[in-house]
Amino acid sequence: MRIDIATLFPAMCEAVLGESIVGRARRAGQVEIYCHDIRDYTTDRHRRVDDTPYGGGMGMLMQADPIYRCYEAVRELSPEPPRVIYLSPQGKPLTQADAVRLAGEKRLFLLCGHYEGVDERVLEEIVDEEISIGDYVLTGGELPALVLTDAVVRLCDGVLSDEVCFEEESHFSGLLEYPQYTRPAVWHGREVPPVLLSGHHANIAAWRQEQSLSRTKEKRPDLLEDENQKGS
Ligand code: SAM
Repeated sequence: MRIDIATLFPAMCEAVLGESIVGRARRAGQVEIYCHDIRDYTTDRHRRVDDTPYGGGMGMLMQADPIYRCYEAVRELSPEPPRVIYLSPQGKPLTQADAVRLAGEKRLFLLCGHYEGVDERVLEEIVDEEISIGDYVLTGGELPALVLTDAVVRLCDGVLSDEVCFEEESHFSGLLEYPQYTRPAVWHGREVPPVLLSGHHANIAAWRQEQSLSRTKEKRPDLLEDENQKGS
């Protein structure tokens, strides 16, 4: 998979994308990620990317043309166009199901807005979908693009050592993950549940399933309601 991120702050993205599992996946060639500075696609000597909104109002807007030129340059790199996602507080809230779906794409182009947002016309021209990382407003789309990239890359083939790693995680199956423990067996007087020390795989699996369910009921009952609605 290849991910291209269009941003006014490529160094901010690179600082994160060089670390941890995503950084390792890049170095191993399991995923290609490139950050593009939208200012490199301006045509004036001041490298201007923003202007005031028509109709008045506070703040500045990102202009359409530098974004479009950046997109065109990336699109021309291969015959198959990327799926274009604009990170926006107005978009569909990101879910694990979206991460799974997008991990199946060959190419993604992630557009990070800034200031008061982006001229609507370039969104109409190039964007396939808008994704939000939550109902709050950030200063730019970089953190949302990094969140999306992390959620997608860890699902790509070979990036995590064992598929079970994510299949048992919260949200993959619609439930939250069961509680987990590591050594020592007693810490501050708190004992690890004895079943986990029993070595009895079937009992451990049953305990984990029951814990997942009760934990979801307690912390996120809305997830169970969503599942029931899907079933009815
Ligand atoms: N004026 C815009 C509005 O009210 O919808 C908000 C602009 S915001 C200050 C600047 C940029 O940050 C947006 O263009 C978007 O790319 C990004 N952004 C902010 N909050 C976000 C969120 N919750 N999810 C995804 N992107 C977000």
